[in-house]
Order: sequence, then structure tokens, then C-alpha cells
Amino acid sequence: MFSWFDCAEEFMESALLLQPQVEIGERYLAGRRSWRGYCACCRAVVRMRVKTGAYSDSAPNLREGMVCRRCKLTNRKRLLWQAITESVGVLPDARAALLEARSPLGGQLALRYPHLIESEYLGEDHVAGQTYSHRGRAVRHESLLGLSWTDASLDLIAHTDVLEHVEHHRAALAECHRVLVPGGKLVFTMPFFMFSANNLLRGRTRADGSIEHLQPPEYHGDGLRAEGIYTWHHFGWRLLADLHEAGFGEAQIGLNYDPFAGFVSNHHPQYEVGLMLPVVFRATR
Ligand SMILES: [Zn+2]
Repeated sequence: MFSWFDCAEEFMESALLLQPQVEIGERYLAGRRSWRGYCACCRAVVRMRVKTGAYSDSAPNLREGMVCRRCKLTNRKRLLWQAITESVGVLPDARAALLEARSPLGGQLALRYPHLIESEYLGEDHVAGQTYSHRGRAVRHESLLGLSWTDASLDLIAHTDVLEHVEHHRAALAECHRVLVPGGKLVFTMPFFMFSANNLLRGRTRADGSIEHLQPPEYHGDGLRAEGIYTWHHFGWRLLADLHEAGFGEAQIGLNYDPFAGFVSNHHPQYEVGLMLPVVFRATR
């Protein structure tokens, strides 16, 4: 179950209380190959693969691990699945969009929301809402800076670890707000730096189109582009205000720390620098 917070203070109280459990419990977990836990999506005790080869500094990144061997969802994807199903509930006619295509997460969400539309960002030279052949598969293109949907036409829009790769992230949030119906939900994850009050801008585009690096360039693995994808932002608490300024009436961060369910942190070795708890952002139009 998620605990939802509107601001930093109460959240940080919980985060600091969890610290010994995160540091000691996850050290044990990170030393194992597999874990028997409860998958909320499969509604069963399952075997989970603890590590997937992703690293968080020098430690196995458990945010990308804890993979259910049955539904194939990672910690992060399963966490988003849980936040969506908890937030939207049973709404079989929901008009829902997931900005990720042909993934185990989409497959699981489509079981709940049969009208789910899946898409990927295929590049600037593509038209939003159009379907392209991509690596032999039909994939719909959508861009967070220009979604194809008309105003107030979706009940849910979800994305996971996309926003940090959008330079003009406030425009992206406003675009999500535009396509949602009143009461519609934006539910998403991104790397969240809970000890940072402000967002950190890592780079910006110069007039000639090149990137001016304000921080050492950081690229994240990306299934579509071999070189990875540039990271413009490290988000802190300022993001909640960004959501309100984008027009959302309610903006919250949900924490669901539950090792039995495979919901643990990224296991970063430095708690106050890079540790990311299992959190999801949720905003209501
Ligand atoms: Zn599962």
C-alpha cells in the first residue's frame, strides 16, 4: 500500500525512519540471487530475480531489479502498476495512455484497462499519433511536448523514467494536464533525489542546437537508442510545485516500501546523495 504525501516534511520523516532497514536489510537482499516475495500484479508469492546487472554507483541497483519471474515486471515497473491500479481503480472503460510500448508493464495494464494505448518517442522527425514500423513491430509515436490527443480526452496518462530526459519538462507536464479530463490522473516515476529541495538542471540547448553541459553528461540506458539518452534533470522537491504550476489541482508523492513485495530502494551506497526510495508521483487534474 502506498502512503501519499503532499509535501517534503512528513515524507522525510518516514524516509529517515526507514534508513536502517534500507541499509541493513537491502545489504542482505543485494547479496542474494533470488528472493521469494509477493507480486502484487500476479497476486501470488513468486520468485524474483534480485539483480539485473544495473548498478547504482558501486552497488546493484535494486530499483531496476527484483524482477518477478512470472510477469517480468521490475521493482520500478511493478511499483508504477500498483500506483496506477490503486489510483484509478476498477474502471474498465478508462481511456489510458502509457508512454512505453510493447513492454511487460503495458501487457499487465491492458488486462485492467483494455483501451490502453501504448506509445514510444521515436524521434523528432515522427508525427504524434502515427504508427511506424520500428524493429519489425508497429509502434505508435508520441512526444511529451506534443501529444496527439485532444484536450480533456484521457482518464490516465502514465510514464516511467521519461521526464528527466525532456529538456522542457514543465511544458511536458502542462501537455499531460491538457489531455486529461477533470479528475484524470498523471502517474509517473523518475529518479527522485529526496534530499534536494530544487531540481538540478544538468544541461541546456544552445542557439546552435548543441548542448551546454552544466553538469557532467549523464546518459541512461534506453531500449531504442544504443548511445543511451541524455539526462537534462535531477529532480528534487521543486517538482511538486512544477506540477501545480502546470495546472494540476493535486500533486502527491507516494511511498511504498515493502521488501516482501520487492519494493525496495535503488540501494545506492550513499543515503543522502543518490538513494531513491520506491516512490511514484501522482497528479490529479
Ligand atoms: Zn508478477
